[in-house]
Amino acid sequence: MPLHVSGHPLVAHKLALLRDKRTEPKKFRELVRELTWLLGYEAMSDLATRPERIETPLEPMTAARLDPAVGLIPILRAGLGMVDAMLELLPTAQVWHIGLYRDERTLKPVEYYNKLPDAATVQVCLVLDPMLATGGSAAATIDILKAWGAARIKQVSLIAAPEGVATLGSAHPDVDVHVAALDSHLNERGYIVPGLGDAGDRQFGTFAGPSSEPGHGPDQGTADVVRRLQRDLDA
Ligand code: URA
Repeated sequence: MPLHVSGHPLVAHKLALLRDKRTEPKKFRELVRELTWLLGYEAMSDLATRPERIETPLEPMTAARLDPAVGLIPILRAGLGMVDAMLELLPTAQVWHIGLYRDERTLKPVEYYNKLPDAATVQVCLVLDPMLATGGSAAATIDILKAWGAARIKQVSLIAAPEGVATLGSAHPDVDVHVAALDSHLNERGYIVPGLGDAGDRQFGTFAGPSSEPGHGPDQGTADVVRRLQRDLDA
């Protein structure tokens, strides 16, 4: 699976500000938006164009217009913060929502919201999630998009964990993944380390106290998933 880690100094600079625990939600949202512009610009660099005849004030010419219809699929809820930035880059993009949660018993993603029409209305889908952690939601979302008929799918995330990259790579080796950084590992709660904490809470200001902070509180299901992913990575 092609993994593209941005080497742009502006991306690195903004990511440092985003990771900093002193960064407040307002600034955090602005940085998510700015990083999404930069990564989105890179992720769309190979989209096809078609020639179109236009007239400038001086003379007729053949110009290039973006050819494929593009769909944005934010992974709820943290991916919502990347949608507006992508729409600023590409105002004609369609935004499709797919809701998934993880079943506590089977630990598999379960679909609870999906209003995709029968046939795909876009050729290229960009799956948006600031954190590619276990990769479970991304892989399940991409399963749905492929069954829908999307011809080309890319994942755009701010930070990825090696475990998530491996999961996505084995489920969907044809999907390009664009990130600002590839971090060290997942902790037993499924948080990316060093990461930035919970991207949803940090965008939306929903801090529920120490038991919900990264690395705290029991969650046996997540710990089991993380251990299994790490065993697969080491194998
Ligand atoms: N989701 C987050 O918001 N942060 C992580 O570190 C992992 C998943």
